[in-house]
Amino acid sequence: MGALVVVSAPVVAKTLLELRGAGTENCERVVLWLGARSGNYVNVSEAFVPLQEAEEDYFWIPQRGMSELLSHLHQNRLMTAAQVHSHPGHAFHSEADDRWAIVRHEGALSLVVPFFGLSTTEETFTGDAAVFQLSKGNRWLEVPPESVHRRYRIE
Ligand SMILES: [Zn+2]
Repeated sequence: MGALVVVSAPVVAKTLLELRGAGTENCERVVLWLGARSGNYVNVSEAFVPLQEAEEDYFWIPQRGMSELLSHLHQNRLMTAAQVHSHPGHAFHSEADDRWAIVRHEGALSLVVPFFGLSTTEETFTGDAAVFQLSKGNRWLEVPPESVHRRYRIE
């Protein structure tokens, strides 16, 4: 099932700031939650914004963005705990999201925030964001709302 991802309110706040900033320009954005594993937890220490190209309904990370991410992870001994991206409308995992997901390990989390995050706050984040998890069979499955707290927690 994967470790419980623990993220602080300031990291969520920074994530929302990024999503909303792009959203006011009608663009999606992806933010990565980087952290370190400790036992059954991954403690997120950073909201990382990779170099990316984005439009209203997609985002894409060029090779240079991926290289920068990998060297940043390596230098700081971090892993990508989850990816978070915004959608112009409802939160779901599109075919492109399935195909281009940056996090690929079993149990990886992908969060989708609806309406560019424009109406989401740190308090409503958990209720607004849809959570998807990569299964053993390499498929992104939506985590039912009642189980979300077992995948990540804001503190
Ligand atoms: Zn998407």
